Amino acid sequence: MTSIDFSALNKSAAESFAQQRNLIKKVCRGDKINCTHCQQLLTLIPAENGIAKIICNKGCTNIELELG
Ligand SMILES: [Zn+2]
Repeated sequence: MTSIDFSALNKSAAESFAQQRNLIKKVCRGDKINCTHCQQLLTLIPAENGIAKIICNKGCTNIELELG
């Protein structure tokens, strides 16, 4: 069996979750935010079936937002 270091995994997941929430807040507010990978402008796609998306042109950023 392969052992996995969950503590490292959880830490980075928590960090990226916090980063995502920050980013979502900014994009929803109308700020111009660029993708950290390709530097293209991020676009907010309005909700469809209760799920909105934030994406970049190249698709390296693809964040789904569940809207309550
Ligand atoms: Zn990108």
